[in-house]
Amino acid sequence: MMNLPYPEPTSATATKKMRSNRRVDTKPEVALRSLLHRRGLRFRKDYAIRLPNGKTVHPDIAFTRKKIAIFVDGCFWHSCPEHGTTPKTNQNYWIPKLQQNVERDRNTDEGLRANGWQVIRIWEHVSLDEAERRILNCLESESTLD
Ligand SMILES: [Zn+2]
Repeated sequence: MMNLPYPEPTSATATKKMRSNRRVDTKPEVALRSLLHRRGLRFRKDYAIRLPNGKTVHPDIAFTRKKIAIFVDGCFWHSCPEHGTTPKTNQNYWIPKLQQNVERDRNTDEGLRANGWQVIRIWEHVSLDEAERRILNCLESESTLD
């Protein structure tokens, strides 16, 4: 992976995006974890999973017994097809940076699946209801296999 210098924020919007897209405890995943917790579901937050390539990933939510890894992906950082944008400034930084993020996501998914995990990726723009429905569907379909 390339190590690119982090550019100075060039606009209030870019600064706001960076602030609102921190990896740990961004709002959508916090809200989703709270909801699942209220539903009585028990899961691990920031559970470390080692991939076949030696890297370690920390899904936002992990159901370890059922091996279900859930990521809440920020629309900006993970290039959501609906809301993903490339900042107009510092494009030499942002274009490869955002491409790397997407490639890393796909490698992570492949590595997890190779280790027997199911991967659910939820865009941050998805409603909590929809996110919950997807997760419950996955948990229910898994429980029939027990
Ligand atoms: Zn989006």
